Amino acid sequence: MQTRREIALAGARQKRLRDAEILRRVAAAPVRGGAAALRARLREEALELVRTEHLLEAAYSCRIVPLDAPPAPFLRAGGERLHAPRLLPESGTLTALGCAVCTAGPKIEARVRALFAGKRPSLALALDELGNALLFEVSRRAQDRMLADAVRQGLTFGGELRAGDPGLALDAQAAVLRLAQAEGIGVRLGSGQAMQPLKSVSMVFGIGIDLPKTHWSRCDDCSSREKCGLAGRSATLQAA
Ligand code: SF4
Repeated sequence: MQTRREIALAGARQKRLRDAEILRRVAAAPVRGGAAALRARLREEALELVRTEHLLEAAYSCRIVPLDAPPAPFLRAGGERLHAPRLLPESGTLTALGCAVCTAGPKIEARVRALFAGKRPSLALALDELGNALLFEVSRRAQDRMLADAVRQGLTFGGELRAGDPGLALDAQAAVLRLAQAEGIGVRLGSGQAMQPLKSVSMVFGIGIDLPKTHWSRCDDCSSREKCGLAGRSATLQAA
């Protein structure tokens, strides 16, 4: 059994999560979409693989980084410079960026490749989908951690962006990873701005005083919105 640990490293909260807790939560979620019975069976098989082969290595690193200079289209924080004018609020005061990186570790994607090579594409796809669901659950926990830290400081959440979204160029990824101190949980930038392990995500939130709810969300135009358990999550964080 893995032990829970959380460390503060230069202001970042880095946490290795209990795999069993993450798996239990994801296993309890209903299977959505067509061919539900078949997909449920494949998901069970994929869950069993993750459990017995210890494929999940869930971790996050998150950090609330105060702005180095007054808010402007180029936001300066932690020695980095991000062009993210969408994060500028209509009212209130933006004072910091909440930066996080989350990962499910490298083993799931390696096992997916092995299943494809072994001509088991259905199970490979089910494991890949399960890996995404596990990563979403890790993201949820990182967001909750940052929200708790922000609320404790009397701060509120604004909008959320990820590198590659409209409003934050993909080449901002390196700066976001540095701000979130991603190397502390073994996440780095690979070729084409892709994170390694691939089952990783990064995110940036505007954080400040009396920030209003944004009228936009990164989920607005997403084709997965109907079946995504995290759609509308940003609005929930802003309402807290
Ligand atoms: S709805 Fe789309 S953009 Fe929003 S969290 Fe889900 S997958 Fe990501």
